Amino acid sequence: MSFKEIFCQDNAINILQRAFKSDRASHAYIFAGPEGVGKFLTASQWAKLLLCNEPVIEAGFSQACDTCQSCKIFELGTHPDFIHIYKELREFTENGKGKAAPLDMPVDVIREMLNAKVSVRPNLSKRKVFVVSETEKMNASSQNCMLKVLEEPPTYCCIILLCTRLEKLLPTTKSRAHIIRFGPVKQEIIVEKLMKKGLDENKSKYFSLLSQGSLGQACNWAELELNNANLYECKKGLINSLSQYTYSDSLELANTILSQKGKVASLWSDIDDKTSKTDISRRADKLFIQIIISALYDAMRIKVAPESEIINFDQSNLVQKFAGRFDIEIAAEKISECYKMLQWIESNVNERLIFEHLLLSLAEYDKISL
Ligand SMILES: [Zn+2]
Repeated sequence: MSFKEIFCQDNAINILQRAFKSDRASHAYIFAGPEGVGKFLTASQWAKLLLCNEPVIEAGFSQACDTCQSCKIFELGTHPDFIHIYKELREFTENGKGKAAPLDMPVDVIREMLNAKVSVRPNLSKRKVFVVSETEKMNASSQNCMLKVLEEPPTYCCIILLCTRLEKLLPTTKSRAHIIRFGPVKQEIIVEKLMKKGLDENKSKYFSLLSQGSLGQACNWAELELNNANLYECKKGLINSLSQYTYSDSLELANTILSQKGKVASLWSDIDDKTSKTDISRRADKLFIQIIISALYDAMRIKVAPESEIINFDQSNLVQKFAGRFDIEIAAEKISECYKMLQWIESNVNERLIFEHLLLSLAEYDKISL
């Protein structure tokens, strides 16, 4: 793996390359952008380059040498100067053993895995790199604890914060780091990747459009599909139901979605044993809400720009029918309601309540107009 294999993040890579060439790498970065667009991959390749003992320059592009001791150990995943921090590490903190998977980044993880380790000099390389995942889930006390190291990091340290929602970080955190933005991955690249994994063209195109440029998410869904999760069939069924259900069918439809979602989440947990079951369950909830959002987006597109490409291109007649349920203003309101539901999922609101509320709300307009 090298910098050159990261897709569609030229802006971020150019900034890092320039910093490396002029020996002005920052001591703290925030990599900000949607989930699944290569933030962690870029952070780990940046770390590999910073840690490499004999970096090479080819055609003006700096790369890790892949042959020094640091590079070899980095590839094995056991480099002592590369520390990846994520909320599930609570299990390994002094008082965290046996506790349930945390929803937010616990302050103990920051204190014990970051603050306590920053002052220990690097072992194999000249530098030491910390990558902190999901910093949008850091509460004020975790961020305040981290500020102590962001204020005056030792010169050998580089701390990279990965973040999907910049507004969740305190101004004091943001002001102490160099913010680099990551954009969505191009659709054709995602389609190509999914087809290489073995998905047919139709499904590859659909999952690529649904992911809105999140290569990571699209790959996860493709993996599920290839393991017979029947995601694609579920989405077809859901779009079909959305186009014709009535207010009184709402609770039954919520039931169907929850049962399908449960099966998807259980298979997902089998495939990904590194993520907690709670987080997988939320991801599956969000996926079904994303499918509902896609239908609403399509409904709006059909009204505003009928020739433009829609996400559910494979069910255009049904989406057309669904679009007949709303005018543009109502569709926009419902989309914003769906985003509110995505936040409810993060806040641990009961999933049944969320889907029932959403489906009743989507059918409400019909009821009034009857
Ligand atoms: Zn090297």
